[in-house]
This record gives sequence, C-alpha cells and structure tokens, in this order.
Amino acid sequence: MTGGERSATAAGDHLHDVIIVGGGIAGLAAARSLSGHDIVVLEAADRPGGRIHSTIGAEGLKNFGAHMFGGPGSIVGNLCAELGLSLRPIDASLMGIAYGKRLQLKGNPSLLPFTLPLAPIARISLARAGLRLRKGSAEAADMLRASQDLPWAEMTARRLAFGQDETLLQRLGKLHPQTAGLIRAITERCGGDPAIISAGHGLRSFANVWSSSSPGFNLAGGSARLPEALAERLGKAVRLQTTVERVERHECHVLIHAQDAAGRPVSLRAKTAIVATQAPVTHSIASDLPEDTRAALAAVRYGPFLSVAINIKEQAPGPIERSYAVSMPNMNFSVLFNQSVNRFALADHERGGSLMMFAGAARAEALSKEDDATIASRALSDLHDLFPAFEIAGEPVVKRWQSGAPFAFPGRAALQPALTRPLERLALAGDYLEFPNMEAAIQSGYAAARYVGKWL
Ligand SMILES: Cc1cc2nc3c(=O)[nH]c(=O)nc-3n(C[C@H](O)[C@H](O)[C@H](O)COP(=O)(O)OP(=O)(O)OC[C@H]3O[C@@H](n4cnc5c(N)ncnc54)[C@H](O)[C@@H]3O)c2cc1C
Repeated sequence: MTGGERSATAAGDHLHDVIIVGGGIAGLAAARSLSGHDIVVLEAADRPGGRIHSTIGAEGLKNFGAHMFGGPGSIVGNLCAELGLSLRPIDASLMGIAYGKRLQLKGNPSLLPFTLPLAPIARISLARAGLRLRKGSAEAADMLRASQDLPWAEMTARRLAFGQDETLLQRLGKLHPQTAGLIRAITERCGGDPAIISAGHGLRSFANVWSSSSPGFNLAGGSARLPEALAERLGKAVRLQTTVERVERHECHVLIHAQDAAGRPVSLRAKTAIVATQAPVTHSIASDLPEDTRAALAAVRYGPFLSVAINIKEQAPGPIERSYAVSMPNMNFSVLFNQSVNRFALADHERGGSLMMFAGAARAEALSKEDDATIASRALSDLHDLFPAFEIAGEPVVKRWQSGAPFAFPGRAALQPALTRPLERLALAGDYLEFPNMEAAIQSGYAAARYVGKWL
C-alpha cells in the first residue's frame, strides 16, 4: 500500500465529486455551478464571502470589503438576479474630491485641473496626465468589450497582456508631485502604486471609475447578502472554520488535509478539487503543482487594503446624500465611500448612515502599523475635517486586508500560461487570475467548475 493509499483510507471510503477549498465568491460561484454533484466547500473563516464582508447591527450597515456591483447583464448582476437579490443603482457621484481646504462633491473630472487649488505647473501636468488617462482608459474599455466572449483562459491572457510593457507612471510621463498624489489616491483602490502597477492595470482601474458601464450598484441588505445567499443554498456542503493545510493529488482522487474549528485533523477525498484561495495560500497548500505553476503563484503580487466602517446618526438627507466616493489625496485615508447613498429615497431605508473609510497600497501599509484604536481615530479625524457636523453612532470598526488586491505589474502576463494550464484533477480559481473584482473572481470559479467537470 502506498503512503497516498494509506492516507486515503484514513479519509474514509466516501469519495466526493468535488472539494472546493475557499468559500470566497470564486469558490462559492464554482460550487453553485456544480450543484447536483456531491460537493464540499471548505472555508477557514467563520463566515462565507472572504473579501466580501458586511454586517448589520443596531447602528445599521457596516461594510468592510467589496461594495460596488456590476448591474443587470454583468456576471455578478446575473448571479444576484438568479438568487433573488436586489441591486440598487448608485445614483450619485463617484468623483468627489477633498483637496486642501476645497471639498468638491461633484463635477466633471476633466475640469479638475482648473478647479482644484494647484500650483500653475501642476495644473498643466494634471491636464496632460488626464488626457493620457482618458485615452488609455477608453482603450482599456474597448479591450474589455472585445475580449468578453473569448474562452476564459484566452480572455484572461488578453486582458493581462493589455498595457503590461510599462508601469502606469512610465505611461503618464513625468508628473508634478501634486498630480502624482491625485493619481495615487485613485490607483490605491486597486492595491498598487503607479510606479509599480502595469499601465494596463492602472488604466483598467481608471476605466472603472470613469466608464458609464462601471460597477455602479449596491446590494440591498449589504454586500454579504451575496455570499450568504449562496452559502444558504449550498447548505451543509459549506463547512466553515475548516482550514485546509494540504492538497494532494493521487492517481484516482484528490486528498485534502484540513483542521476543524477545534483543531482536529479532517481528511476528505474527492474525484477532483478546486483551490479558490488567494495565491500565497494556494502556493503553500498545493505543494505538488508543477514547478512553473508554483513559481507563478509565488510571483503574484498583492497590495494591502484597510477599511474602517463608521455609522452616523444622520436623520435627514445631508451633504453627502448624492456622493458615493470622495477621494482624499492628502488625508490619512484614500477614499470615503458612502455606503448608504440615497437611502432617504427608500421607503424602508436602513437605520443609520454608513460610511467606509478606505486606504490602499502604501497608505494602507503605513496605517496598518498602528493599532486599531489609532487607525479608528485617524479615520474619525479625516471624517471630522470633511463633515464636522456628522455625529457618530457606536464605535468605528477596523478591518485589515493584508492581501487586499492582486495587481498586475510589467511581466505579470508572462505568468498567466503557468497559472491557467490544465492540471490533473485540479483547477485554480480566484481574482488573482485576472483583476481584483467580483466579476473576475466569479468568472474564474465558473471556469474552474467547467474544467473539473471532465472527471465527474
Ligand atoms: C476593501 C475591499 C474593497 C473592494 N471593493 C470591490 C468592489 O467595490 N467591487 C468589486 O467587484 N470588488 C471589490 N473588491 C475585490 C473583491 O472583494 C475580490 O476581488 C473578490 O471578493 C475575491 O474573491 P475570491 O473568492 O477570489 O477571494 P477571497 O474573497 O479572498 O476568498 C478566498 C477564501 O479562501 C479562504 N481561505 C484562505 N485560506 C484558506 C484555507 N487554508 N482553507 C480554507 N479556506 C481558506 C478565505 O478565508 C476566503 O474566504 C474589494 C476588495 C476589498 C478587500
């Protein structure tokens, strides 16, 4: 008897069809599209959803992770519709900005070089960079449309190859420091600095902010309703607080070693498996992958995110009612996201107002060195500077995302063939295979489910 056969016996005789490691949106979407098969989803945390995380408490909604959903016709929009979840259009400005003493909550972004209090040379620098960003993000939007019907592996390769020969900073040319600060506050939303991320990655993130087809919806009841609804449908197939330690492929099955909430070892067998964890976790638990795939997983880069959820006592439409995002280039945090935008227009609006102070990349890294109380007080200090009249309800809650977003950098596209190569009895899934958003994560889950289907 081989070692593998012995451990398979220890795992019991039951052979599942598919074991899915990771109950983020990629893993849950894969599980949903395999319904009808004998599947198990193993999730380390005590809730499903990974980087989609919101709660509802006495003070109202708190959001910590993903919040902007694609609408009807998008992959995430279709999934919400299938599950009977309702999406609300974000009928508000995404282009607010606080700069110096000026707070501009709406307006045309192309007028920013003239309306912000900038040095004359910075106005020219910003106008020039703005034109390049507009042109490049229109090209990004065309590329996304042109690639959307390609088979998944080809689509991801095409998208990652876009603008990958240079960094965003190289594409934009020399920037005045004030202009660089303004641009950085936006690219922080995709996890990286303009001097590190590829031009293509940065331009896609600008396309998201500017494009009319950008993810412009919130989920009624909070973002977590999506993973919760998926997990409810999957029932006992989802095992929370089960941390996978090793994924082993054998000739006729895959063997998974995990630990349950009490620290007890658990072994499960399946005909095939999907590993839908972030790249560094996948690298550490799936040690028998081909060398080039392991090297590619180790080379994927992530930027940190940090969010602070704050409830406010606003009882009537206030100054931020029609603003969804306010960029804050010179403050502690990068962006304020208004999670309860237009709530007074709803008959059954949520209790209190809900804000998310967000920091990404270098700013998140610097803030993360502080303890939660200091981070929360910096978030409140930014909020007070912006909207002194706001009254806080309850305590702000800090959430650190050490691997907040995978970002593309020059050379990233060369890793793609090793990450999407066909593997025996195993498929990988997760947003790191394309772009850090729910849409890409769900697509990767569906692609993984289609692939493992051949062993069922
Ligand atoms: C603050 C923030 C804001 C964002 N905003 C948006 C937005 O507005 N719109 C948008 O589309 N996207 C947004 N995103 C990105 C989006 O959340 C992600 O792209 C998407 O949720 C990734 O899903 P995933 O399943 O690939 O990964 P994850 O959500 O990271 O899921 C991986 C899962 O694996 C589990 N896991 C890890 N290790 C193990 C193990 N050993 N055993 C078992 N399970 C394990 C984790 O607990 C996790 O649940 C945001 C992300 C953050 C953090």
